[in-house]
Amino acid sequence: MSLLEIRNLKKHFPVGQALFSRNKDVVKAVDGVNLRVEQGETLGLVGESGCGKSTLGRAILRLIEPTEGEVYFEGKNLLAMSQRELRDMRRQMQIIFQDPYASLNPRMRVGDIVGEGLEIHKIARGKAKRDRVIELLRQVGLREDHYDRYPHEFSGGQRQRIGIARALGVGPKFIVCDEPVSSLDVSIQAQIINLLQELQEKMHLTYLFISHDLRVVEHISHRVAIMYLGKVVEIAQSDTIYRDAKHPYTRALLSSVPIPDMDGKKERVLLQGDVPSPVNPPSGCAFHPRCAYRAPICDQMEPPLDFDADFHGVACHVFGPVKRA
Ligand code: SF4
Repeated sequence: MSLLEIRNLKKHFPVGQALFSRNKDVVKAVDGVNLRVEQGETLGLVGESGCGKSTLGRAILRLIEPTEGEVYFEGKNLLAMSQRELRDMRRQMQIIFQDPYASLNPRMRVGDIVGEGLEIHKIARGKAKRDRVIELLRQVGLREDHYDRYPHEFSGGQRQRIGIARALGVGPKFIVCDEPVSSLDVSIQAQIINLLQELQEKMHLTYLFISHDLRVVEHISHRVAIMYLGKVVEIAQSDTIYRDAKHPYTRALLSSVPIPDMDGKKERVLLQGDVPSPVNPPSGCAFHPRCAYRAPICDQMEPPLDFDADFHGVACHVFGPVKRA
């Protein structure tokens, strides 16, 4: 059994909320995603801004209510749980946000921020809480004397360490890392990624690591899923994605990343145009208006995510394991 299994998950947002509005348009931010995440693995989730990856992360945790679908954590359907059951389950599932400053209450001391979850979930109080928070601060590379300081006294990287300590406090098994290094300098990004990897090994954590940057997820991910307009268009083992990507969108994303090419013959696949509106996505393959390889079938029929024998999934009529064009 997978630690996390998502079946046909959708999150649609109505457009134009005004009373008596006749506007029935919806933004299909997440539109039928199926994924499994195994215990102890990191699944990288990559796509351009607006592709639905952060919405997917929040819908999995029910921080926003999904429109449709199922989310199983250790075999239990989160979408069928009461608020009370969900609160207990939240100990197991945490999130680290992109902007560590915005996600930390500037009026709270670091010790109270990190210890808040310990109190809410009745894990520790008083001296036991303080001791546990200090242990957590040390685990993320901070010091005991940071306990009484405020978030504005820290650098961006240190603030992200505070966010990580807060997430770890309640003893989670699964953490959604939502662009956790995007707002940090490149040198600091590497430190935070290394820290997340160390913690994963020590605590047997499982991550969904969301990023718009394929370079960032390369070293931490065991598998990588690529999202485009609310759907997964390619998923495979990490080295397969970087060595043998099939989907033209993945190849275009890789083209924009300075990854050393083994045989020196890397073909550059440039993205044409902007991401279309998710309110009115293109027919057939949603990528077809930007795709240099589109065939006549591409604007007629949506390609399913087909898998080969190595579990490399590709949603493409031309380059997927099932050729339709
Ligand atoms: Fe391009 Fe067609 Fe494949 Fe879509 S299905 S990515 S349009 S070749």
